[in-house]
Amino acid sequence: MVSVPLSDLVPDYIKRFEAYLPSKPDAELMKLYGCSRLFRLNNNENPLGPPPGAQEIIRQFPPMKASLYPSGDAYFVRNKLASRFGLDPDQFLFGNGANEVIAFVIKAFCQEGDNIITADKTFSVYEWVAEFSGFEARLVPIKNFGFDDEAMLKAIDGRTKIIFICNPNNPTGTYWNTEKMTGFLDRVAGRQIVVIDEAYCEFVSKPDYPNGMELMEEYPNVVVFRTFSKMYGLAGLRIGYLVGNREVVDVIRRTCVVYSVNGVAQDAVMAAIDDDDHVERTRELVNREKAYLDSELRALGLEVQAAEGCYAMVRLPMSDTLAYRKLMSRGVMVRSMTGFRFPNWIRVSIGRHEAMEAFIEALSAILKKTVPAAPGQASS
Ligand SMILES: *Cc1c(COP(=O)(O)O)cnc(C)c1O
Repeated sequence: MVSVPLSDLVPDYIKRFEAYLPSKPDAELMKLYGCSRLFRLNNNENPLGPPPGAQEIIRQFPPMKASLYPSGDAYFVRNKLASRFGLDPDQFLFGNGANEVIAFVIKAFCQEGDNIITADKTFSVYEWVAEFSGFEARLVPIKNFGFDDEAMLKAIDGRTKIIFICNPNNPTGTYWNTEKMTGFLDRVAGRQIVVIDEAYCEFVSKPDYPNGMELMEEYPNVVVFRTFSKMYGLAGLRIGYLVGNREVVDVIRRTCVVYSVNGVAQDAVMAAIDDDDHVERTRELVNREKAYLDSELRALGLEVQAAEGCYAMVRLPMSDTLAYRKLMSRGVMVRSMTGFRFPNWIRVSIGRHEAMEAFIEALSAILKKTVPAAPGQASS
């Protein structure tokens, strides 16, 4: 038993911070909402699953290997990625999902009184890790659904250590093109670490989309995040990484947890990395279904924000948290966006056609039920 009031042990920034509550398992949710099937469209997962080669590796994983510690620094994976991208293996650091490497960077560079800068409506984990580690997260409002470069530059002060740019942005799908990115980096002029989170880069085929890995040479303060959770369909195995200039990475390495990437994940990734057909098939599916979703939603008279990435946002004429529950009872799980500071919006992951149809059908049904009677219509 703790012999002082527990709160005496808890830092103020932890007292202020609210724990994130993950969703319950499918079976529990289906019981709770009384639905007999569930389309999970809340986490931007790849509906095609992992590449076939990686599936085979997972099936064949020797059980005895489960008793051995994996490579502590993803040795073979780093070498493979280095040759694929023409970089040095020591420029890569792996984590238990890209989520974990966010903490590595913040721990490596921030001390008491420092701050980080990102957008107000973006992937929340940068903000959360900063806040629960006791550092200020400066959230610069987005502009036209994209990161606002001018306002972000203005938010920088002498205690700013890291700037996080999600490119393309989750959830809005907007991106900074090469010109905007290099213009921004020129003005930061190496004074801060600039993290470019490219979790969805493999979904982007625009010619003016910048490749963060190519920017690192000219801008040694750039750190790029990538993950195998989205395009490579390995979210359940938890593996992501950062890549940067040797000098920067050698600093971040000090805060890096060894053995946090398991052996199955490392082996699966070895088979997944070079499967460009899988990337192509996924892109085709996502582009096709995103176009379908977009036209169906517009036909319902709804505002849609969809650009790059495997997700789309929709504005609803009702509370997003209410819509979430109503959609759940019809077997469709989306992401309610109040938590992303987008009240009345939901984000839906692009899935197979069957899932997209189920979503449109469920959404149409709940909207019909909540549309108020037009003026002049007798309320019978
Ligand atoms: C999903 C996601 C990540 C990290 O995913 P992991 O599963 O932890 O690798 C990072 N950034 C963005 C923007 C994401 O959407």
